[in-house]
Amino acid sequence: MGNELIPLAQPVLGRAEERAVVEVLRSGQLSLGPRGAEFERLFAARVGAPLASAVSSGTAGLHLALRAVGVGEGDEVITSSFSFVASANAILYERARPVFADIDPTTLNLDPRAAEAAITPRTKAILPVHIFGYPADMAEFERIAQRHGLAIVEDACEALGARHRDGRTVGGRGNPAVFGFYANKQLTTGEGGMVTVADPGVKEMIDSERNQGRAPDMGWLDHDRLGFNYRLSDIACALGIAQLQRLDEMLEARARVAALYRGSLAGIEGLELPCEDRDGDKRGWFVFVVQLPEGTDRDGTVRALAAAGVQSKPYLPAIHTMSFYRDRFGYEGGELPICETVAARSLALPFFPEMTESQVGRAVDVLRGVVARAPTKPFSHSWKTETLLD
Ligand SMILES: *Cc1c(COP(=O)(O)O)cnc(C)c1O
Repeated sequence: MGNELIPLAQPVLGRAEERAVVEVLRSGQLSLGPRGAEFERLFAARVGAPLASAVSSGTAGLHLALRAVGVGEGDEVITSSFSFVASANAILYERARPVFADIDPTTLNLDPRAAEAAITPRTKAILPVHIFGYPADMAEFERIAQRHGLAIVEDACEALGARHRDGRTVGGRGNPAVFGFYANKQLTTGEGGMVTVADPGVKEMIDSERNQGRAPDMGWLDHDRLGFNYRLSDIACALGIAQLQRLDEMLEARARVAALYRGSLAGIEGLELPCEDRDGDKRGWFVFVVQLPEGTDRDGTVRALAAAGVQSKPYLPAIHTMSFYRDRFGYEGGELPICETVAARSLALPFFPEMTESQVGRAVDVLRGVVARAPTKPFSHSWKTETLLD
């Protein structure tokens, strides 16, 4: 009993979700039915965006959003390497080049000054990521984009429920902003995503390209541009509508678990906790990621936690240190010192809305013991060391 596995993530799914899905099954219309437009309308209202387009994943949403702002072959897009690999992969789908700039050591988001310094004549867009649900400094990115004539696409896949210091909800600023609904996200449809936009022309383009390039008013035999199948089924949209109805509750529960962690992890020497909300920013809690004390053997820590039934994961590895990106772009390590240091120390702990106080207590007790006893390893910025390659 006491050693029951504590998973990294766990969705909240109940009778409402079951009912919503069964209703779609019984209707016989499993896709391109009424649930899509309803989910889009409710989601847009929720984040304060004029419009939204439902898509099959966050990755698909990033791809279509980048196409919609005109990113194409040979363009450069400035983004963060401290993100899920999808942010950079989506840029490569269009044969554009991801240009990684370093992050802010506190918020772990793309640093606007580093991003501006990375602008070249080929730069087409900036793709800030609201990492771990902490809002990126969009007001500053918008100033930079305006100054240099660049487009913006926001990767908001981890940031549902977050709010900017100027009071606007993440995803509601009018830049195409992409959300993801994989099972560990704040809201899940199993797989799925949403792009919020302000410009009706951008929505029309995304809606067409998610559906093989068909214009909304066209018969199914005519297509006026190349498209994809990035549609989200009515089953998934029904699930999303049910999840939206309990979103506030789930977000509050996540914040409560984060507060429990914060209270009980205080005082472990050298351990860094997620930054507190500052200057009016509000995090939409997604994961609880700590930075282990410098030199701690992270793999050993993961193994010790696992032995006690506590899942954990090195999270996130820096994208530019992954073998595909190294081989393709020749990174050697050391290019992004803050990102690399953070990536080498980061560990995600179990975190989900229904996590109990005693589960948090167990995870913390084990971590405290492990950190106190952990053998240390010399730290290196090089990706060639075992520390960085999990
Ligand atoms: C989850 C996530 C995505 C999208 O993931 P999908 O699995 O394609 O929905 C993109 N970027 C970040 C930062 C994410 O966390």
